[in-house]
Amino acid sequence: MKIAFIGLGNMGAPMAANLAAAGHDVVGVDPVVAPDGLPMASSVAEACGDADVAITMLPNGDILRTVAAEVIPALPQGGVFLDCSTVDVDSARAVADDAAAAGLGALDAPVSGGIKGAADGTLTFMVGGGEDAFETANPLFGIMGQKAVYCGASGAGQAAKICNNMILGITMLGTCEAFALADKLGLDRQAMFDVVSTSSGYSWSMNAYCPAPGVGPQSPADNKYTPGFAAELMLKDLGLSQDAATATDAATPMGALAQTLYATFVNDEGGRGTDFSGVLPWLAAKTRD
Ligand code: NAD
Repeated sequence: MKIAFIGLGNMGAPMAANLAAAGHDVVGVDPVVAPDGLPMASSVAEACGDADVAITMLPNGDILRTVAAEVIPALPQGGVFLDCSTVDVDSARAVADDAAAAGLGALDAPVSGGIKGAADGTLTFMVGGGEDAFETANPLFGIMGQKAVYCGASGAGQAAKICNNMILGITMLGTCEAFALADKLGLDRQAMFDVVSTSSGYSWSMNAYCPAPGVGPQSPADNKYTPGFAAELMLKDLGLSQDAATATDAATPMGALAQTLYATFVNDEGGRGTDFSGVLPWLAAKTRD
């Protein structure tokens, strides 16, 4: 396929490289970076003019809307606009409506798996949009990732992503504060892991991404909390879930508290640039007030 790939940062560059390595004809667009070996276009219109699929991997919904206004008039009829960024549900739906009105397929397909998953081609895609567009894009998901879950109509992919990451933020905070309490009780961290990882307190945060260094599988904790998944990206996703909860009048008190705690950690307590599991040393060093 002929693919325009727009947004070549930490995630987009390796995703585009994997598509090119699989034999697709990929042209990149990014105002800041130009990854080695990837042909670049000077504008979105130039990249999209004869493309089958336009893929975006951008920082937020406002930038997505700006870029979409350039992609949609340029992409040939029948083309597919595939957004893999994590953005608010409203932006995803607005862009999909505009694409459909222009005779294009549109998918919101945010990812889980992080920078390593992007490099290794092992991302999971959560996909909302038309089923025909999903069929067209499915071979691309198979190159950039290992799994694509079709979640429903436009916006459903973003909805799944922010709900998943709200659980992740809450369970990581709960896991970290339980370790901090265990420390104060004199409980060995290895013993804590051995019990909880095989008991009813288990979760992905404990079992697969243990925030305590030297305990459990290799994780960012074993690499001085180098991300991984940066705390500020967790804060972004918790903000998106709170915006969605406000818009739909959903009660999410734990999600709201998780957002407040990550905001403090990132903005006031040195957490920016560290992995989101770095709340463990922060909480472990704190007292009750
Ligand atoms: P990034 O900031 O590294 O990359 C974004 C890129 O978009 C940058 O290169 C920037 O120059 C480019 N860009 C900005 N405005 C543009 C425009 N108008 N036209 C073209 N390009 C433009 O971010 P990232 O870490 O690659 O994340 C991208 C998306 O993936 C975000 O929505 C993020 O939430 C999501 N995500 C990231 C991770 C992760 O671990 N980094 C994991 C899952 C999801």
